[in-house]
Amino acid sequence: LTILSIESSCDDTACALVRYDGTVLAEQIYSQKEHIQFGGVVPEIAARAHLSHLSALVQKTLAQAQIDWKEIDAIAATCGPGLIGGVIVGSSFAKGLALAQNLPFIGINHIEAHALTVRIPNISPLQVNFPYLLFLTSGGHCQCINVTNIGEYQRLGGTIDDAAGEAFDKVAKMLGLSWPGGPALEALAKEGDENMFTLPRPLYGRPGCDFSFSGLKTAVANLLTDYETTDVLPRQFAADVAASFQKAITTAIINRLENAIKLAPNSTLLATAGGVAANQYLRKHLLALAEKYNLPFIAPPMKYCTDNAVMIGWAAIEILHQASKHHKLMNDISMLPRPRWPLSEMSQRFDV
Ligand code: ATP
Ligand code: FE
Repeated sequence: LTILSIESSCDDTACALVRYDGTVLAEQIYSQKEHIQFGGVVPEIAARAHLSHLSALVQKTLAQAQIDWKEIDAIAATCGPGLIGGVIVGSSFAKGLALAQNLPFIGINHIEAHALTVRIPNISPLQVNFPYLLFLTSGGHCQCINVTNIGEYQRLGGTIDDAAGEAFDKVAKMLGLSWPGGPALEALAKEGDENMFTLPRPLYGRPGCDFSFSGLKTAVANLLTDYETTDVLPRQFAADVAASFQKAITTAIINRLENAIKLAPNSTLLATAGGVAANQYLRKHLLALAEKYNLPFIAPPMKYCTDNAVMIGWAAIEILHQASKHHKLMNDISMLPRPRWPLSEMSQRFDV
């Protein structure tokens, strides 16, 4: 079983060829630079950039693997959730390929693909069995999921306002760092004193596993009221703010995840995915949390934490495998792209 997959839900245009055993035969990604001058992703520009790069990217992927269409069994693409323009471009392109090559089309939920990434045999250091806990943290999402089977995702909690990546990006912007701010903020925080400022840790100590970051963001803004937005901040001050922010957001996240572990006591491990999972300070504390509860901790390599097409291909493989257990042939050619697509709906695809 070999899948050609496409991802286009945000600002990465990506294509991959993935085999049933997790072997990545080829992968290509174009991270759109069109948005840098705007300091954030512009949906309309993203959709147009997907359109102009996708065709060449697919051809490069096929050339890289030196594969014949006869060896490809299905075409998969993100059908949501995400920026709808990009999702329409990628999924329509994939459906066109599927029709032209007479192959089934598999529509993938982007979040489900992030959740299953830790199960890719060649990428994961461990064999990941169900159930496991996934902390998904990116620019657009922040949620904790109990993954109990393919298609069965119990959402334990999620953000009630901003995603963690959004908070990193907005605070970074206030500190005068360039977009995307997360990596720049982490670098600056290394020079700072994390105990210099006491910032709120939203929802700390409350029951449940929801997250909230907007109050923390406002608290940082309040530290900066002595400066104009155009001022260059004193470097040490900015570094101390960055370090104090990173400590506060991490402390809040760890507290919420500790509740998640208690809510899902059968979990076999703690996994993470999403761009914010690149943060080494956060990773260190996630590892310590997992160790406290005797759980292994897995974070996929960075390029598979952020948006990529390999995870889309792998999700298709898992879904096809699960469907075959239900004696069900899959073809989602009439599936419509969706800006929102709750994980709770994913089990429906196996209904007979
Ligand atoms: P989606 O939410 O649909 O997955 P996205 O493009 O926002 O889309 P990612 O590419 O997974 O998601 O993650 C990007 C986010 O991760 C940005 O907000 C970025 O600032 C943040 N990020 C990346 N590296 C770090 C880091 N070292 N520390 C903190 N945040 C980081
Ligand atoms: Fe993503």
